[in-house]
Amino acid sequence: MNVPWLDKSSINEKASTLLKTYSLMLGHGVLPPIPVEKIIEKGLGLSLSFEDLEDKLGVKDVLGAIYLRSGKICINEKLLRGGSEGRIIFTCAHEAGHWVLHRSRIDEATRKGQISDAIICRTVNTKERIEWQADYFAACLLMPEHDIRKAFDTVCCEDVLVLENIRGCIGSSGLYIEPCVMNWHFIADAVREAGGFSNVSKHAMIIRMQELGMLVNMTGTPVGWNNPDR
Ligand SMILES: [Zn+2]
Repeated sequence: MNVPWLDKSSINEKASTLLKTYSLMLGHGVLPPIPVEKIIEKGLGLSLSFEDLEDKLGVKDVLGAIYLRSGKICINEKLLRGGSEGRIIFTCAHEAGHWVLHRSRIDEATRKGQISDAIICRTVNTKERIEWQADYFAACLLMPEHDIRKAFDTVCCEDVLVLENIRGCIGSSGLYIEPCVMNWHFIADAVREAGGFSNVSKHAMIIRMQELGMLVNMTGTPVGWNNPDR
């Protein structure tokens, strides 16, 4: 499914608007951990369920799906068995992103009989524009910039951390004592804890912090949770 290009700031704005609307509905602000399941059900008025989507759809590697006409979001129940809350919550937020960003476009195409009313989200499709946009929306919704910067400020003394080394000096605890590629995940985890982002995975936090420019990596070695050197 082709969708128009959207810049990051407009996607972020739509995620912020959803949070503000939900806050108004509650009568108070919403802080991390962002209650995305409640936002889906009460804020957007959609249903949310967990189903064996691979069996139902007959395809592999399904994360979730949204059925636009019925307003139904389904998450692959296999994710529950994986035990990763972060992955489940991110998938829920991703589907909410499809609803906010893409439903009018797809409604139009569906009326013309061009496509079905469902968006099926699979790991093999993550590079498609429509999927990237929903992923970016999910990151903005779950990790609002204001909250993540506030948490970063409580953990780090500097506005930006520049990583110049893969490894740093080792202190008496046996850990690297300066920010470097090898211990960046500790810093990301500390920010996650300081900001109350308990339903967000470390991997998602690392990507978001890089995206917001809190980290400048000069080493050429990727900073990520799955760094094979770690
Ligand atoms: Zn998707």
